[in-house]
Amino acid sequence: MFEQIKLDYGFDALEPYIDSETMATHYGKHHAAYTANFNKFAEQAGKTGESVENILAGVKEIEDPELRAGLRNNGGGYYNHNLYFRQMIPGGSKLPTGALAKKIDDTFENFDAMKEKLTALAMGQFGSGWAWLSKTSDGSLVISRTDNQENPISLKTGHTPIMCIDVWEHAYYLKYKNLRASYVEALWNVINWDVVGELYEA
Ligand code: MN
Repeated sequence: MFEQIKLDYGFDALEPYIDSETMATHYGKHHAAYTANFNKFAEQAGKTGESVENILAGVKEIEDPELRAGLRNNGGGYYNHNLYFRQMIPGGSKLPTGALAKKIDDTFENFDAMKEKLTALAMGQFGSGWAWLSKTSDGSLVISRTDNQENPISLKTGHTPIMCIDVWEHAYYLKYKNLRASYVEALWNVINWDVVGELYEA
């Protein structure tokens, strides 16, 4: 049984950057629905004993089109939102430290340049999708974006996501309406760089 990540902060804790109603709907309705549907499709596929990462990495090989789409969309929705909600913290963010900070500087020149590039990817995503900061098997950092609930694992890039930006309208429309840029800018204020750093070093 796959379960949503437990939040160690309240729905209102990320105000004013991410509003309480959006959190309640996003976590309590959207993520809950992805999770319930993922469990349903995983059971149907006989994959309840596998990790979500394994299921997503093998999703393209599933022959039945309904099962393939069900696992890709809902398994992706389950996995992506677990990372999204895990990487946030109330009270504003600190900057990356340690190995992650050094790799960001080596790869992008500095934190602000990485932020600018990832923001541009998020802004350039046409329709629903995600922007990603991921690590490769040799510890390099890469940024990318994906459509719908795809992610670097279901696309078999070999990269492991460590931070993400949800640009589905459900992530921001209640507060920011059509202003995706305002939401993306706000999100940077609540990223928990300790968690992202742990995922980088894992
Ligand atoms: Mn979402």
